[in-house]
Amino acid sequence: MSDTLIREYHRSREVHDKIIIGGGAAGLMAAYSACKISTDGGFVPDVLLLEGKEIVGKKLAATGNGKCNFTNMYQDICCYRSDNSAKAYRIINNFDNQKTISLFRNLGIISTERKGYCYPIGEQARTFRDVLKERVISLGTVIYTEKYVIGIDKSDSVFSVTCSDLSVYYSKKLIICVGGSAAPVFGTDGNMFGLLEKMGFKIIKPKPALCGLRTDCKYLKILEGVRLKCECSLYSSKRGNIIYKEQGEIIFSKNGISGIPILNLSRFAINELDDGNKCGVLLDFFPDMNLRKLKDYLTSTVISCGDGAVGVVLSALVNDKLLKTLFRELSIDYDTSSKVYDVRTIRNELGRLSEMLKSFNVNIIGDTGFENAQTTQGGVILKEIDENNMESYKYPGLYFAGEVLDVDGMCGGYNLQWAWTTGYIAGRN
Ligand SMILES: Cc1cc2nc3c(=O)[nH]c(=O)nc-3n(C[C@H](O)[C@H](O)[C@H](O)COP(=O)(O)OP(=O)(O)OC[C@H]3O[C@@H](n4cnc5c(N)ncnc54)[C@H](O)[C@@H]3O)c2cc1C
Repeated sequence: MSDTLIREYHRSREVHDKIIIGGGAAGLMAAYSACKISTDGGFVPDVLLLEGKEIVGKKLAATGNGKCNFTNMYQDICCYRSDNSAKAYRIINNFDNQKTISLFRNLGIISTERKGYCYPIGEQARTFRDVLKERVISLGTVIYTEKYVIGIDKSDSVFSVTCSDLSVYYSKKLIICVGGSAAPVFGTDGNMFGLLEKMGFKIIKPKPALCGLRTDCKYLKILEGVRLKCECSLYSSKRGNIIYKEQGEIIFSKNGISGIPILNLSRFAINELDDGNKCGVLLDFFPDMNLRKLKDYLTSTVISCGDGAVGVVLSALVNDKLLKTLFRELSIDYDTSSKVYDVRTIRNELGRLSEMLKSFNVNIIGDTGFENAQTTQGGVILKEIDENNMESYKYPGLYFAGEVLDVDGMCGGYNLQWAWTTGYIAGRN
């Protein structure tokens, strides 16, 4: 054995106070709070962070379209979806958005807010990665990158952590912050779920959340690229009623729909399909008018324009690609002609058009996969975790933080808030 290998072997035999697996949002926050509590108490921190990728915080630096929507001023239990949302929300309240904003302010990251969504004032997501990385290293965290963990064991109160290069590290306490299965390009391939299951943890089946949905809508060729404000109502064949409703901007793509309301309802649609139920989304393009009002509005506008081409008049009120789609679906053709229609025909056809504008049906046939998801639903069940310190009941000394747990937040900074909160609490303990 060479001297370097011998030195590496002896170093890895050290039993560290804490090992953190995963250097994402939760792992960096856990390292920060673990080191801070030690130094504030007059101790020298002994924290080792093992990251599978060549760099920490890869996903963090890509969040919020590179701007990082790191929390939200509006907080409610419904923003944290889980098998046990009540517990998730109690945990959030142990280290909430205000405490998060203030912690980052103390680290030099000032928050700015738009409609409740909070961003760093410089609007650069990598600020969080760089500041946290720099701070945890200066507080004493040792970071090893390209250490992809493939095994965890515990004997005589010591955890041993094995990496894919067969190096083994030991610690008294272990914090697991490996994220979920969403966006594997950032290092989160969900490998740890199988490992944790073997250790006896109950894992709620991980599925994508906050992702686009695929549809069999035959008009996608026309609608691709169109962005429209509407109200989206998800229904299921099994339940027979509306499961989830949200207004916002949707985007049609080559094979489906996305946009914030679709991302927010995707987890429910995915669960319906997973249960074998059919589901779809009804799009209401005029949510502020009831059907009668919309019919009257369209009819009176068209009639008051005299002999203007009906299609041209309507395209001032409705997106022309959507209009083209609806005309096809209704087998009417106003767009090219400037024919004079009689009022009865116009009333009748605009009535049918209004009905479609109020509830345009899009069948959902699938999702766009973990590759295109922003987060994971499912994961380590919260029942097995002590909400006061994120410690496992089954394995004292083992803690969890972040997306690896069964919590998926809505769009708006809630997933990062969950990572900050749980990372902070786990590290502090
Ligand atoms: C494109 C995109 C944009 C997003 N934007 C936002 C946003 O604006 N606001 C918001 O709130 N949320 C956003 N999210 C979601 C948010 O980024 C995640 O929920 C959050 O980063 C989860 O933090 P985490 O620390 O639990 O996991 P991650 O940040 O995913 O970190 C996990 C880390 O563990 C490492 N790892 C995994 N397995 C192993 C292993 N076996 N051994 C060693 N290391 C391992 C990974 O390489 C990774 O670095 C976005 C997600 C994506 C994909």
